[in-house]
Amino acid sequence: MSVLVVGSIAIDSVKTPMEERHDLLGGSASYAALGASFFSPVRLVGIVGSDFPQAEFEFWKSRKIDAEGVQRANGKTFRWSGEYAWDLNTRETRSIALNVFEHFRPQLPQTYRQTDFVLLANIAPALQAHVLDQMERPRFIVADTMDLWIETARADLDALLQRIDLLILNDSEAREITRETSLIKAGRRIRKMGPNYVAIKKGEHGALLFGEGDQFFSCGAYPLEDIRDPTGAGDTFAGGMAGYLAGTVKNVQFNDLRKAMIYGSVLASFCVEAFSLERLRNLSMQEITERYETFKKMSQFEAPI
Ligand code: AMP
Repeated sequence: MSVLVVGSIAIDSVKTPMEERHDLLGGSASYAALGASFFSPVRLVGIVGSDFPQAEFEFWKSRKIDAEGVQRANGKTFRWSGEYAWDLNTRETRSIALNVFEHFRPQLPQTYRQTDFVLLANIAPALQAHVLDQMERPRFIVADTMDLWIETARADLDALLQRIDLLILNDSEAREITRETSLIKAGRRIRKMGPNYVAIKKGEHGALLFGEGDQFFSCGAYPLEDIRDPTGAGDTFAGGMAGYLAGTVKNVQFNDLRKAMIYGSVLASFCVEAFSLERLRNLSMQEITERYETFKKMSQFEAPI
């Protein structure tokens, strides 16, 4: 089954303490779509400007990523620039140029409206809702968000939470949205705000998953020695989760989400090994499976290894 992915498509500049790179493909939807495409066909919704490389459209085609829903507008593509501190976790946005993104109204092609699985990657919650308005009863809706929307579009975000099945956010965002210091309390509290499931990412410390009642799952992160560029890890995690669910699961249960979270973590761990989408572009299914198996071994504490 396909997954519809909507979000930003960007040209990024990234500075880490070791290296600086310009004019890289980025954006929440670019990472999420490629992450999801390892498991299921993708229907991509976004906007690019006239400066956007045609080669990316060819690449998407080669990866079963349908780009009919990507609008091409006159003007420049959305640009974002960020700089990481030594911990490669703390990030500062150096500049943002919305460009064609400023007047973006996602418009779904007729053929997209009946997609069962939806990933609302990080964009303004009002735009995420506008996508849902055009859809016919999707079966499972995943949404990602960021601190900016918690701070500037809280009412839209609260309304969106009523309409989704799984919210993915990072630890600081979970604390900010709930004003709780405990992530366990925060996860449970967010469930009461609407979504049946909540995934909280903790960067290099793994992720937590909350479901009904006492349903709870915690996984570590893959122990990577070298991180080149953390950009897009969260979007790739969300893409991996949503793609796995769309590609392999009919009726999503908590156990499926546990597995999906591991696949999301595996893909995110590959993402950060290189700048932009470079590592994901040449990643094989075999490499994904091998790292998934390593995750399995890492988390066993009773069975012999
Ligand atoms: P992440 O590292 O997962 O937080 O995502 C990084 C990506 O988000 C970059 O490639 C940016 O182009 C994109 N991005 C940054 N700010 C925004 C924003 N306000 N809305 C949508 N996408 C954004």
